[in-house]
Amino acid sequence: MRALIKAAEWTLGAETGEGAPSGIYSAECITCGAQAQPTDNERLPVEVWALKHTGLNPTHRQFKATAETFWRVTPADGNPYAEQDNAQGAIQGA
Ligand SMILES: [Zn+2]
Repeated sequence: MRALIKAAEWTLGAETGEGAPSGIYSAECITCGAQAQPTDNERLPVEVWALKHTGLNPTHRQFKATAETFWRVTPADGNPYAEQDNAQGAIQGA
C-alpha cells in the first residue's frame, strides 16, 4: 500500500527487520480464560494446545485466537526521507 501524505510518498509493508517475527500467535479459552503460550511464526503449537485443552475439558470448546503482525512504513522513491536514508547508507532505528 502506498499513500501520499503532505506531498511525500510512503510505503506500508511487513516489518522484516532482524528478530521481527512474521506473526505472534496465541489463543484464550472463552470458558475459563486459560491461555496458550504465545509462539513466534507458528500457529500449529497454539492449535494443538486448544485441542488438548478441549480434550482435558470437554465442555471448553470456544477460543479467542489472536495473530499479531508487525508493519513498517518506509519512504518511497522521491520522498525526501528516502534520499536522506540513502545518504546515511542505512536506516537507523527510529
Ligand atoms: Zn478452558
